[in-house]
Amino acid sequence: MRRIGRRTRRKIFFIEKNKEVYEGNIRIIAKFAKYFAFCEVSHRITRYIFNKKYNPLISYFPLSMIHTLPILSYALDGLEPYISKETLEHHYGKHHKAYVDNLNNLIPGTEFENKTLEEIIETAPAGPIFNNAAQVWNHTFYWESLTPQGNIIEGMNIGELILEQWDSLETFKKAFNDVAMKTFGSGWAWLVKKPDGSLDIVSTSNAGTPLTTDNTPLLTCDVWEHAYYIDYRNRRAEYLEKFWNLVDWEKVEERYNGI
Ligand code: FE
Repeated sequence: MRRIGRRTRRKIFFIEKNKEVYEGNIRIIAKFAKYFAFCEVSHRITRYIFNKKYNPLISYFPLSMIHTLPILSYALDGLEPYISKETLEHHYGKHHKAYVDNLNNLIPGTEFENKTLEEIIETAPAGPIFNNAAQVWNHTFYWESLTPQGNIIEGMNIGELILEQWDSLETFKKAFNDVAMKTFGSGWAWLVKKPDGSLDIVSTSNAGTPLTTDNTPLLTCDVWEHAYYIDYRNRRAEYLEKFWNLVDWEKVEERYNGI
């Protein structure tokens, strides 16, 4: 029988002595392995539930697109004296913001949650999602149609086109204001570019918007009462007269040129 060397005996002795420690470590490692496996399975299940959108916690982990209130290019008192700071505080700060908040609350879990504002407007059926999305877009378009003290139309291509169709700027303004005055209840008056390049004045009710038509919107005036009631009470005609002092014709020209 072969004699075991001193070094080997020391190794065997060491292994025997530490056998329990080794086994203990293996058990600990096995426990950790089970724990990590459990975590991985849990992680996969959680992801599955989130993807299926059954988890009530989803509201704390918004996965849908967030729509935001646009930042105005002028101060809240920038449209005075024609539209007051108080009107902007309510019209922009409360009404427009409410449409944004409503939309963000309505779309999670729907087919619209990752669509752009324009995509929602073009595809949503009549109802709250369409109404709030269109009102967000219409108001942003309205604020961007205005600039403090306005700017002159003379010398612009859009001015020439208006003269061709309405003979004078005053005639055009009167025609636009007539459409705005005849908009029953709440709505919007629009100057639009038709597919053939000609101009037209149209009215939409409530959240209606030319985005759902073949026309390209160029200019709008909000004729919901919340747009003018603080400054003009029920005098819509007076609000419409003052509106022209704020129109950003450079923006209208850009829109006509598709910029
Ligand atoms: Fe409004």
